[in-house]
Amino acid sequence: MSYKINTNCIHAGYTPKNGEPRMIPIIQSTTFKYDSSEEMGKLFDLESEGYFYSRLQNPTNDMVAAKICALEGGTAAMLLSSGQAAVFFSVFNIAGCGDHVIASSAIYGGTFNLFAVTMKRMGIDFTFVSPDSTEEELDAAFRPNTKAVYGETIANPALDVLDIELFAKAAHKHGVPLIVDNTFATPINCRPFEWGADIVVHSTTKYMDGHAAVLGGVIVDSGNFDWDAHSDKFPGLTTPDESYHGVIYTKKFGPGKAYITKATAQLMRDFGSMQSPINAYMLNLGLESLHVRMPRHCANAQAVAEYLSKHEKVAWVKYCGLPGNKYYELAKKYLPNGSCGVISFGLKGGRKAAEKFMRELRLASIATHVADAKTCILHPANATHRQMNDEQLVAAGISADLVRLSVGIEDVNDIIADIEHALSLTE
Ligand SMILES: *Cc1c(COP(=O)(O)O)cnc(C)c1O
Repeated sequence: MSYKINTNCIHAGYTPKNGEPRMIPIIQSTTFKYDSSEEMGKLFDLESEGYFYSRLQNPTNDMVAAKICALEGGTAAMLLSSGQAAVFFSVFNIAGCGDHVIASSAIYGGTFNLFAVTMKRMGIDFTFVSPDSTEEELDAAFRPNTKAVYGETIANPALDVLDIELFAKAAHKHGVPLIVDNTFATPINCRPFEWGADIVVHSTTKYMDGHAAVLGGVIVDSGNFDWDAHSDKFPGLTTPDESYHGVIYTKKFGPGKAYITKATAQLMRDFGSMQSPINAYMLNLGLESLHVRMPRHCANAQAVAEYLSKHEKVAWVKYCGLPGNKYYELAKKYLPNGSCGVISFGLKGGRKAAEKFMRELRLASIATHVADAKTCILHPANATHRQMNDEQLVAAGISADLVRLSVGIEDVNDIIADIEHALSLTE
């Protein structure tokens, strides 16, 4: 029986049998017991499926991963301790020292740092391209050692919308997969696999959890990328892994499971970036209402964006649901039901006015977080990008007056009244 996405938010990943718990059980155990060491040995050789140590796999986590897998329409998925871990694993699973990756320049600051500094130190070269690149510009960025293309459906905090089809086409033409961070859109508003993306990652810390309760990440494989057809580029998937007695992931697990099995068997084994089962349980509570919360986030953000764009003290508003926005048309294609609850805007009074405005807010709280039930606000020039001067901020696409507003699911009249009051006290 296959269900629609709203039903899958609630039921996918776990179906209790007669007399079993209605909620997913929290298997809070580091280890699992076996009757013979032969049986245990088979697990270590990837000869049989099962659990032996929660650094690699845990049943609660797998149930929640299976739910997200169903929401994205993938073939395999794994939970990780954070979005950062998910982004790192998704790339490092197929690219190593001496390799090259193409990434959109409009990505989360943490991801940019991971790529441009930390992974660069590991010997992986990154080329950052404009999210607005043409096919020719993308083509020109490829090298013989390119292993993946990376972008965000809706960039945090730039709010640019990725032309997924165009990026996927370029990636496939050069024999590599497209990895998409779908955190801001969530599978409720966009399913990148339907547009040609091969791998999807999320920071589940944001809308999926939705309550600012637990950190987490997830990687989902579409199962569509043909690793064997590009065996020279991806020997890690298509040639024997000596740490598992010569297992070949694509042969043994097939195209649907090879990528996630390798990431679990090698990277999770060696790095241990595992999500705690109790966090997975809380993430699952968030997922059950994701399809109800997302439309409310979008409707509230749309109303707030429209209100701000008409206000005399507001210099500019960036939200792809506004007709004048650069990404309005792309958003209609990829995000027909809405984008997300995050808006950025600037005040005519600039940086000083932004500081005063934020001080006067009562409902919206100042927080480094985005994408949860409570409206929150951040001034990047004073927080995440504090070390930059005004010129460096402009180069990073973040003006000194930029305020990032994450619109929650409170009554929109209260959110607007709060903004109205704070603006009335601002120069
Ligand atoms: C927050 C975020 C991340 C990092 O996730 P954490 O859970 O904070 O590690 C990655 N990508 C995007 C788009 C994000 O918003």
